[in-house]
Amino acid sequence: MTATARKILVLGLARSGIAAACLADRLGWKVALCDDKPVAGQGAPAGAERIEPARALERIAQFDLLVPSPGVPASHPLLAAARDRGVRIVSELELAASRLDATLVAVTGTNGKSTTVTLVGAMIAAAGRRVFTGGNLGNPLSNAVGGDYELAVAEVSSFQLEWVEDFHPHVGALLNLSADHLDRHGDIDAYLATKLRMFANMDAGDFAVLARGQQWTAHAAAATRAAVSTFALTPRAPGEVGIEVDMRARRLVGEGGFVAKLPRQWPRFPHDFENVAAAAQIARLLGVAPAAVEQALESFSPLRHRLALVAESGGVSYWNDSKATNVGATLSSLRAFEGNVILLCGGVSKGCDFAPLAREAVRIKLVVAYGAAAPEIEAALAGAIAVTREPGLEGAVARAAGRACAGDTVLLAPACASFDEFRDYVERGEKFERWVADLLATGATEEWA
Ligand code: ADP
Repeated sequence: MTATARKILVLGLARSGIAAACLADRLGWKVALCDDKPVAGQGAPAGAERIEPARALERIAQFDLLVPSPGVPASHPLLAAARDRGVRIVSELELAASRLDATLVAVTGTNGKSTTVTLVGAMIAAAGRRVFTGGNLGNPLSNAVGGDYELAVAEVSSFQLEWVEDFHPHVGALLNLSADHLDRHGDIDAYLATKLRMFANMDAGDFAVLARGQQWTAHAAAATRAAVSTFALTPRAPGEVGIEVDMRARRLVGEGGFVAKLPRQWPRFPHDFENVAAAAQIARLLGVAPAAVEQALESFSPLRHRLALVAESGGVSYWNDSKATNVGATLSSLRAFEGNVILLCGGVSKGCDFAPLAREAVRIKLVVAYGAAAPEIEAALAGAIAVTREPGLEGAVARAAGRACAGDTVLLAPACASFDEFRDYVERGEKFERWVADLLATGATEEWA
């Protein structure tokens, strides 16, 4: 069944809601818009009707389709009412995919999605093909509909997969899985089950790309009829289809003689190599030649706020990994360093256990826990790692800088969402960089030494 409607209600007027409303408008549907907050809804179709939530609740049965923004939890009263009245609910992702002419590539996973999607897009473009790159990454997939694209590569989040029925990418990749968004999904099994919805409609002519050798890999392979291939830093078993990374020789090797050289300067850390391997495996399945893969990697600039060195002073290095918004990402950040890390960790907890950070205790000199989650972080790590608390990130930066000695690394990898103090991870990363620069410029770090 293709998502189709005459009257559509869009709930949540952020970027993807506006894109869904514009697509529905282009399709000639009657569009109504609703948001719990009195937001501007800039860019919404001129003819769309604005409805108050209470009014939308009364009128819910009049709509054929409800498109909730990814931020709206399933418990929202409008979603409950729509379900009761048999109003179909689909995400903007499904609405867009059902109208898309381009071949769809979808990438999900707990971490590395944005980087991998950007890499895949660059590899396809280097092969001279017309490609749209977006989805959860920023440019909603709805904006690809009607465009002159041969391929569309979409970052897909678990929130978007909560409301799909017919979603059917030609290539679907699951990069990794660790606890995240458990405040929304409940537990890791439910979180995995949501991710696996991506594969449910794929069939024998499609391709599922999975990380090799993970606890969940066999489960994911069993959840799809698509042809499965894998990627990893470790060698493939004989006969296994996929890619492995030879980190020392800096090259990717796949079955059938596929070999691509990696540039000297990047990838640098193990998780970057994994993302590159996943991207190359996806590109290869789409017929991209090794030369185009190499060309894309040569000119690739890593995305901002993903484990970047921002300053060095007095032998102390300062790294910004503001995009590390869950414990799994923070663990992979920590593994990039041998030791002496002062970790800035905090913000809004997503219902996940912080105790696994203690696995990397040997690399950590001190955790500066800050923000709303600070007491929870301290309680989870007490006894395993030295922890100190600060109300906010600015104080945490000053505290870390004051405690750092030559050879130490101050790492912002918060394992949390940013919303208690910042608009998003970008603002958090920018403020971090500014506070570090200010401290170093004024020499204020010495006061704490
Ligand atoms: P996403 O879009 O899934 O958040 P990003 O590419 O933006 O992914 O990376 C987010 C953060 O996740 C990075 O800053 C890094 O800390 C971590 N990360 C990136 N790739 C991986 C990976 N393959 N495995 C584990 N952690 C990763």
